[in-house]
Amino acid sequence: MSLEIGVIAMQGAFREHCAMVERCGAHAVEIRQAPDPADARFAGLDRFDGLIIPGGESTVIGRLLVMCGLVDPIRGCGRAGMPVYGSCAGLIMLCSEIEGPDGMPLDQPRLGLLDARARRNAFGRQIDSFTAPLPIRHVGPDIEAVYIRAPLITRRGEGVEVLAEADLAGTVLPAAVRQGNILASAFHPELTEDTRFHRYFLSMCEDYAAGKP
Ligand code: GLN
Repeated sequence: MSLEIGVIAMQGAFREHCAMVERCGAHAVEIRQAPDPADARFAGLDRFDGLIIPGGESTVIGRLLVMCGLVDPIRGCGRAGMPVYGSCAGLIMLCSEIEGPDGMPLDQPRLGLLDARARRNAFGRQIDSFTAPLPIRHVGPDIEAVYIRAPLITRRGEGVEVLAEADLAGTVLPAAVRQGNILASAFHPELTEDTRFHRYFLSMCEDYAAGKP
């Protein structure tokens, strides 16, 4: 049976993630509202084999997730071991701490599934969007990384594996990380033709699906 991936479709690049998931041979379902336990067709987010939180604007996505009652269901899935992947604003949503470009803490809704601190708009305004070739552990030596007002990780817990790093004016900071079932990238693989990063995530989902009762 093919994998079924829930893509949070509040705002941002969710269509591109869905297209990428489908290109990789899995099925993508757009999620716009909290599952209704009374609706037999949609028994809950736990029916999925993985979840994706796209890039966009983390404050907007966060506010909409709160409004739609999706924070606890997503958190529950992540804590129960379901693979969750966040790109860009999705990375910010996954982190336990968020800071502004100046390093000052920001109080905005988050899922806290990743023991790390995200710096929003880390590259500043002058170079807010760019593409760079990037070696990514477990994925490939030459991935095209598209950064759009991207965050970087400025603190990470012990269990957080760094998959890729970016050079921020001489300071090297994590740009892609994994903590068990949680995967995050500061860049947007869904905006390229390269399916390798999504295939890596789907391999995590396959392992998870295989272990489901
Ligand atoms: N700068 C955005 C934020 O802080 C993220 C940008 C993106 O997802 N492309 O939420």
